[in-house]
Amino acid sequence: MAKRDLYDVLGVPKNATADDLKKAYRKLAMKFHPDRNPNDKSAEAKFKEAKEAYEILSEPAKREAYDRFGHAGVDPNAGGFPGGGGGAGGFSDVFGDIFGDIFGAGRAGGGRSNVYRGADLRYAMEISLEEAANGHTTEIRVPSWERCTTCKGSGAKPGTQPKTCHSCNGQGSVRVQQGFFSIQQTCPTCHGSGKVIPEPCTACSGQGRIKKQKTLEVNIPAGIEDGMRIRSAGNGEPGVNGGPPGDLFVEIRIREHSVFQRDGDDLHCEIPISMTTAALGGKVQVPTLTGRAEIELPEGTQTGKTFRLRGKGIKGLRSAYPGDLYAHVAVETPVRLSEKQKAMLREFDATLTDPKHSPQTKGWMDRVKDFFQ
Ligand SMILES: [Zn+2]
Ligand SMILES: [Zn+2]
Repeated sequence: MAKRDLYDVLGVPKNATADDLKKAYRKLAMKFHPDRNPNDKSAEAKFKEAKEAYEILSEPAKREAYDRFGHAGVDPNAGGFPGGGGGAGGFSDVFGDIFGDIFGAGRAGGGRSNVYRGADLRYAMEISLEEAANGHTTEIRVPSWERCTTCKGSGAKPGTQPKTCHSCNGQGSVRVQQGFFSIQQTCPTCHGSGKVIPEPCTACSGQGRIKKQKTLEVNIPAGIEDGMRIRSAGNGEPGVNGGPPGDLFVEIRIREHSVFQRDGDDLHCEIPISMTTAALGGKVQVPTLTGRAEIELPEGTQTGKTFRLRGKGIKGLRSAYPGDLYAHVAVETPVRLSEKQKAMLREFDATLTDPKHSPQTKGWMDRVKDFFQ
C-alpha cells in the first residue's frame, strides 16, 4: 500500500511550524487514541499513521530528509540518514513530548520517566538592508547548558543520591480517574523524572546543569526578508529526562534604510533635482546598493516621474533574477533667495505667458473651469 503524504496525514501545509505539527497531531491523537476507541481497528490505524507522521516531521533531521527524498528518506529499512530511522527510543521521546501531561509516556514507551523535548528559543536580530541583500555571516551569543561538574549531572549534593519517588514508585506518572477515563498524568511530586532529590546540589540548585553562554555562527542568506526566521536545529533548550533539545529561531528584522525602501525584490528611492535640471534636463546620479548609477533626465521632467533601473533591486531568496530600483524624481523649489534672484525669477516668470510652458497648470485650469460650470 502506498504511503500517504505525511503533511496530508496531519492536515498541515508543508511550511507548518513545529507548533502547528504538534497541535495537528494532538488533535488527531486525541480523536483516534485507542483508549477512546476500544476495538476500533480503523481508529487504531489512523492513530498509528498520525503518530508515525508526527515522529518524522517533528524531528528536524528526519523532516529535512523527508522533504528532500520523500518516504525513502525516512524509511528505516532504506538505509537512512544521520539520526537513524524511528527506533524504539524515538517513539517514547515523541510520545512523551505530546502526551506527557495527558496519558503519560510510561504507558506508551514502556519507559520509566517522562521525556520532553526542550523548548524552542527565539533570538531577535536586526540587520541592515545591505546585509539582507548581500547575505551576512555573524556570531551570536546564546544560552547553553552544561552538565554541573559538582554533582556530575545528578542534581544531588555530592555524597547523597537521588531517591525513587514514592508518589509514583519511580514511574514518573500516576493514574487519575477522570469521568469515564482512567488517565495517566505526570507525577506532581517528581514532575515525571521518577526521582526526588532530598539534598539538592548547591552549585546547580538540583538542576544537574548550569546555564552558560555559547557563540553560534549564523549565516543569513542573501535576499532574506524582514520577519523571516532562520532555524538552528538543536540549539534551543535541552530536553527533559534525556529528551531531544529544542531549536533556536533567529528572527530577522531589517532596519529602515536612509535612502532605500524595499518592496519585495524591488527598491524605491527619491531623487531630489533642481528646478533648473528639471526644466533643462541633464544627468543625475542615482545611488544603488552596489554603487552609483547615472540616469539622463529629459527636458521638462516633472516631479513624481519615475525611472526604473532594471536589476538594481534585491535578488530574493526564491527569485531567479534581482528586482528593480525605482528612482522617483522630486523637483525641489529653491529657498532663501536673494532679492536679486527673486527679481530674476519674476523677470523670467513674466516670459511664461504661453500656456504651453505649463501643460499641467493648463490642464488643471481647464478641469476647474468645467467643474464650476
Ligand atoms: Zn549540581
Ligand atoms: Zn513521582
